[in-house]
Amino acid sequence: MASANSDPVVVVTGGNRGIGLEICRQLAARGARVVLTARKRTAGEAAMATLAGGKHAALFQPLDVTDGDSINGLRDFLTERCGHVDVLINNAGIIAKGEAPALKVGLATVRETLETNALGPLHLVQALVPLLKRGRSPRIVNMSSGMGALAGNDGGYAAYRMSKTLLNAVTAILAAELAGTVAVNSVCPGWVKTDMGGAGATRDVAHGAETAVWLALDAPVTLTGKFVRDREVIPW
Ligand code: NAP
Repeated sequence: MASANSDPVVVVTGGNRGIGLEICRQLAARGARVVLTARKRTAGEAAMATLAGGKHAALFQPLDVTDGDSINGLRDFLTERCGHVDVLINNAGIIAKGEAPALKVGLATVRETLETNALGPLHLVQALVPLLKRGRSPRIVNMSSGMGALAGNDGGYAAYRMSKTLLNAVTAILAAELAGTVAVNSVCPGWVKTDMGGAGATRDVAHGAETAVWLALDAPVTLTGKFVRDREVIPW
């Protein structure tokens, strides 16, 4: 039987609510050593309380994905407490208040959205890759969106779409550069009932989290550099 130390260490950003919290719940139920991160300590600690009962006590570390000092703090925390990382799930994301079609959107809105949705995940990978390379079958899962697909793009929500398209590019480039060492994929969760997705969305959070958890724990390690929804590869 595997020892507790062989259970995967999985870091989740934006773990305090929505799809991120559900990912943490599903991972904890599967016996993973979950590192739940959230930018607000009180919200993160409240989310932690809902994870009680997993095989391992989850760890909490505050993390704002747009803040380099915060990212370095997470790296130091993981180095000290875990010594390695098996999976990084870049889940945190925003649709900014100033969102608009491309001809109208303010560039400050575009920059803010790119910082959170694409550059934050890139920066986290840069900081955590040495720890991931010490993990077993390490993987990175980037929470993208079908709205970022170049194929069949409808327009609207321009900053969000651009940010997820860039995140998909980050996925493809990292997958090439980390080939043979770390599997890197983008996932679309579908349209999910959360604060972001709204009450009219077609999926509950359990369904929305499912493929990210599969990519984190179960997918073949040879699956890398892909955009995935419902465990199937979809067009970029
Ligand atoms: P949500 O309910 O709005 O939750 C977003 C999470 O991201 C929150 O935990 C939020 O923290 C966190 N976050 C935002 N900015 C952050 C930052 N700078 N640093 C750290 N955490 C930050 O959204 P969701 O629906 O669960 O979405 C999760 C992911 O799925 C996002 O990447 C989203 O783009 C993607 N997605 C969602 C849908 C959908 O239909 N819901 C569809 C496609 C893709 P706070 O609580 O502090 O704000």
